[in-house]
Amino acid sequence: MPPANDPAQSPLPNRWPELLAPAGNLEKLQVAIHYGADAVYLGGSRFGLRAHAGNFSDEELRTATALAHEHGVRVYVTVNIFAHQQDFAGLPEYLVFLRELGVDGLIIADPGILAVARRTVPELPVHLSTQANVTNPESAAFWEACGVSRINPARELSLAEIKGLRQRVRAELEIFVHGALCISYSGRCFLSLYLTGRDANRGDCAHPCRYRYRLLEEKRPGQFFPLEEDERGSYIFNAKDLCLLNRLPELIRTGADALKIEGRMKSLFYVGTVVRLYRAALDFWQQQGLDTPLPPAFAEELSKIGGRGQSENFFEQQPEATEMLYDGTTANPRGVPAAIVRKGGPAPLVEARNPFQCGDTIEFLERGLNNIPCRVTAIHDLEGQALARANPNSLLRLTLDRPGNYSRHGLFRRVSDHGAPRDRLPLGRSSHRGFP
Ligand code: SF4
Repeated sequence: MPPANDPAQSPLPNRWPELLAPAGNLEKLQVAIHYGADAVYLGGSRFGLRAHAGNFSDEELRTATALAHEHGVRVYVTVNIFAHQQDFAGLPEYLVFLRELGVDGLIIADPGILAVARRTVPELPVHLSTQANVTNPESAAFWEACGVSRINPARELSLAEIKGLRQRVRAELEIFVHGALCISYSGRCFLSLYLTGRDANRGDCAHPCRYRYRLLEEKRPGQFFPLEEDERGSYIFNAKDLCLLNRLPELIRTGADALKIEGRMKSLFYVGTVVRLYRAALDFWQQQGLDTPLPPAFAEELSKIGGRGQSENFFEQQPEATEMLYDGTTANPRGVPAAIVRKGGPAPLVEARNPFQCGDTIEFLERGLNNIPCRVTAIHDLEGQALARANPNSLLRLTLDRPGNYSRHGLFRRVSDHGAPRDRLPLGRSSHRGFP
């Protein structure tokens, strides 16, 4: 096969990459669209990894696809389990159903599922999941010859290796740029199955690599002896999160077709704020040119998003022990979710996500990177009764000291100089299901 053009030789990329966001449910999909995703990936209730991501019923898949297309956003559906024989029952019908919905692509890891998809719905593009662990150009060419139109290689590749793939195949390349990392090859790991009975390879990881471990001698119940990876405890393999924000120009020049954010199990706030950050960065470079460094506001914004710290993983060199997070399951973010706008306007109707009070200053996250700090001057419930405090999950009308158009699906957050207390876990909380 002849090598594809090498866009790295060209000062301007031919095509700007797609920003691809996770959509664990309909609400997250709306927020991802609101903050600028070009495409979303989501799972139906069958055949996809991420068993606890919420996932979409068939009817919700229909709604989600229509909604995304209304906004010009593409929809890719995960069919990426490693299938056992019994898993194939109903697969052809499901694939035909997805074709009839008009989804824009399937995300597949298993060669058997790929074979069924090529036979049953040959017109539907297939994207190869990172779970297939493409680590070299020959492997990429193999999958391309099998009919995949896009390859998401293993997350364990350097930039030089990604360039090698680009030169070997014409298939689109989709690169993970942000989100959780596994210590195993992109999720192919049995730690969760052994310790909790939940199989990561079937979408049900309980994330035991993030737990804090102690030693127990069986005749001394209740006495936990420290097990020290270092003096802060032992987290078996608690990898920091991937963050390639500052490396996007190199990826764009290399010819990456899609930049993917991990996190179908992450919170709505995580999805919204990360999509917003990467959208703003891509727009910045499109306007200013790829040689212009990001202004400090981007690093400031990143510090408010939090997560498990940041790692560039294998992008430049093999990660070392410093790429692990030893002192907790998450790094403390400075931004704490406050509310999401359910009905926009100068006095928005919001759903509170964490407590806040009259007199507190919260910031509204506009699209782009503009944050509008505003003081809450009044809170009313739906009956019009004035409240001193907003409680989580309640629907409230906010009066703010700054007039503005607080748009639907927009987010409000509180910002702390010191980070949120650990027990609050405001970001990615759903991915911590099952933590001790
Ligand atoms: S236990 Fe950790 S390393 Fe293993 S699949 Fe789950 S998240 Fe990945």
